[in-house]
Amino acid sequence: MPKKKTKQTLRLPMIPLRGLMVFPHMVLHFDVGRARSVAALEQAMVEEQKVFLVAQKDGDVEEPALADLCRVGTVALVKQVLNLPGDAIRVLVEGQHRALLHAVIQEEPYWQADVVLPDDEVQMTPEVQALARTTQDLFEEYARSSMRVSGETLRSVGEVERPEQLADIIAANVLTRVEDRQAILEEIDVEKRLETLCGILIRETELAAIEKQVQTRLKKQIDKNQKDYYLREQIKAIQEELGDKEATDVEDLRKKLAETPLNDEAREKAERELDRITRMAPGTPEIGVSRTYVEWILDLPWGKSTTDNLDLKRARRILDEDHYAMDKVKERVIEYLAVRRMKELNTQDGAMKGPILCFVGPPGVGKTSIVKGIARAVGRKFVQMSLGGVRDEAEIRGHRRTYIGAIPGRIIAGLKQAGTMNPVFLFDEIDKMSHDFRGDPASAMLEVLDAEQNFAFRDHYLELPFDLSRVMFITTANSMDTIPAPLLDRMEIIEVPSYTEEEKLHIAKKHLLPKQVKEHGLPPKSVKVSDAAMRHIIEGYTREAGVRTLSRTIARVVRKSAVEMLEEDKQTVSVSPQTAEKFLGAPRYLRDMPEKKPKVGVVNGLAYTTVGGETLAVECSVMKGSGQVQLTGQLGDVMKESAQAARSWVRAHAETYGIDPEFHKNLDIHIHVPEGAVPKDGPSAGVTMATALVSALSNRPVMQDVAMTGEITLRGRVLPIGGVKEKLLAAYRAGIKTILLPKENKKDLEEVPAHVLSQFRVIAAETIEDVLNVALVPEA
Ligand code: ADP
Repeated sequence: MPKKKTKQTLRLPMIPLRGLMVFPHMVLHFDVGRARSVAALEQAMVEEQKVFLVAQKDGDVEEPALADLCRVGTVALVKQVLNLPGDAIRVLVEGQHRALLHAVIQEEPYWQADVVLPDDEVQMTPEVQALARTTQDLFEEYARSSMRVSGETLRSVGEVERPEQLADIIAANVLTRVEDRQAILEEIDVEKRLETLCGILIRETELAAIEKQVQTRLKKQIDKNQKDYYLREQIKAIQEELGDKEATDVEDLRKKLAETPLNDEAREKAERELDRITRMAPGTPEIGVSRTYVEWILDLPWGKSTTDNLDLKRARRILDEDHYAMDKVKERVIEYLAVRRMKELNTQDGAMKGPILCFVGPPGVGKTSIVKGIARAVGRKFVQMSLGGVRDEAEIRGHRRTYIGAIPGRIIAGLKQAGTMNPVFLFDEIDKMSHDFRGDPASAMLEVLDAEQNFAFRDHYLELPFDLSRVMFITTANSMDTIPAPLLDRMEIIEVPSYTEEEKLHIAKKHLLPKQVKEHGLPPKSVKVSDAAMRHIIEGYTREAGVRTLSRTIARVVRKSAVEMLEEDKQTVSVSPQTAEKFLGAPRYLRDMPEKKPKVGVVNGLAYTTVGGETLAVECSVMKGSGQVQLTGQLGDVMKESAQAARSWVRAHAETYGIDPEFHKNLDIHIHVPEGAVPKDGPSAGVTMATALVSALSNRPVMQDVAMTGEITLRGRVLPIGGVKEKLLAAYRAGIKTILLPKENKKDLEEVPAHVLSQFRVIAAETIEDVLNVALVPEA
């Protein structure tokens, strides 16, 4: 592009600048101190007040030579001069033109140089315009991202119209690096100058973006550090608060410790633990552990006990009040109290090492509830612990404190709950304890129940002796079979038998109904149940040894009565058998009417299970085969062996009953006892199985209103069995007419209520022949 450039030359005093640069159109002040510079300035003031300002390549050089100076500088007008203390002068200049250092005319006493002013004007071609606009844009972008450009600079740059000024103003205001500034100053060609600036701006914008990223990252880091610090301070504050609380806690515990009548060992342990707490840093989790331990010790009923009420009459009254029958239990308790009384009168020693009572009987016969009655009669606190399913010694004796979350066992917990050293402590279901790798709870129980040891019972958690000798332990069980022998040895067994229908009727009328009426918030005596209705409820809706279901069924009747009283605005409800059916729906059980017709191979047995007596049919069938015997119905080993014995006896006596003596070779026998899901065991079905076998093999039918029980020997003797009362009650419920009982069990009939007994023909059998004579239908 042909641009005509007219050059102008000037001779001016020159001042080298250090680390500083003056652009055309820029006003700036600086201090001048070096002698030659001061002299140059003075010379300028006497001439046209113009100086040539040129940058030193290296600002550290004190007396620069020509080679130390840049080639391009600025001609500036000196606007003001101010003498500073010392020899320095402050000067205010305004840049006018960039100028090329053409020649140095003199160096002393001041620099004087010839400079050439290039023609700086540029023609506004589209390229130049575009370049100027790009520069503006880049500058704005840079300003945005760097945040270092003031609003004023932005505005003044925006107002620049001439492209030749644009680069200078931007460079003067925003460029910080000396090389960049010099590069812009030295570029004589306006277009090239703008391009160079654009390059610098792009680079700077990028740098600014990176800088920003780094900054945000750093800021985040700092924010996080600050947050952490803040949180840590807060925790410290909380801990301090807690620390204070702990201190007061420990003081409280110490005070309580002083007031509690502990034994020496316990006191020492508690004190040691409290000392440990004070030594621990506040907030240590161990503090909680130690405190809980001390609290446990302090919460035990040291030295606290209730005074026994040994008034026998009162005790009798209370026991009779709540429970019907259960005479053996009541008598035993009265005896106990009597002995206690005697001891108190005749010796000074009130403590008594009485035997541990164990009430054995089917569920729902009132074992648990009478123990509560005993506690009430004697005036002691009552605690109950079920041992059913307990398989870990630690449940009884606690975990050692080295376990996380350890607590004392249930004995100690029970005493804490009772709040006295002499409660009535009931262990329910002592026959249902089991054991596994975690230790045997039975052995722990031995120690608890042993009067010789339990005055210093040691719980693993407390690790202190605690006196259990004044606790009145009573246990209950459904059956004696599964109580570990050593435990059984230490207990006195009192059997609590199941109830007859008559007894249930009485219990229902006198106890269960009034209790349910009261519990449901109805006025006393507002629900009247006739005897016939109650019998219907007992027979039609329950089938149990005890009265639990009965109690629940009566509760249903009471609820329905409450609804009726409200809906029909009645004061009382009278329940007849019909009303009972209306309330309860159709009866669930029909009184078994034994099949009238005699049957081959089906015999009624009588069994005694943990839930009371039951009738149990034994079925036998034979078929051609090779002499195999199959026994089904979940039979236990004893029962299977007793089937073998029965079969052997039949083999030996086959001919007497017209049975093929070779049946054990060519007939298969299948004996089944229905209700196959219920496991059955015991020897008492021996006679029943023998009878079924004879019947099936000889094809002689068996009377179905006959039921039998008894063990059989190989010689055919009938041996006595247990649970006579329960079995007869079951037979009674089933409508049996004739009972075949081992002769030696005859004495047990005393226990059976007369009205039940009067329903039967009871035949005492000595041998299996006696049984067969009655049970088999006589031969035609
Ligand atoms: P168990 O402990 O023998 O399984 P419970 O003591 O739980 O039986 O008795 C069940 C319910 O039957 C209790 O509400 C109890 O009051 C009642 N009960 C049992 N036997 C009698 C009885 N002889 N006289 C009065 N209520 C009884």
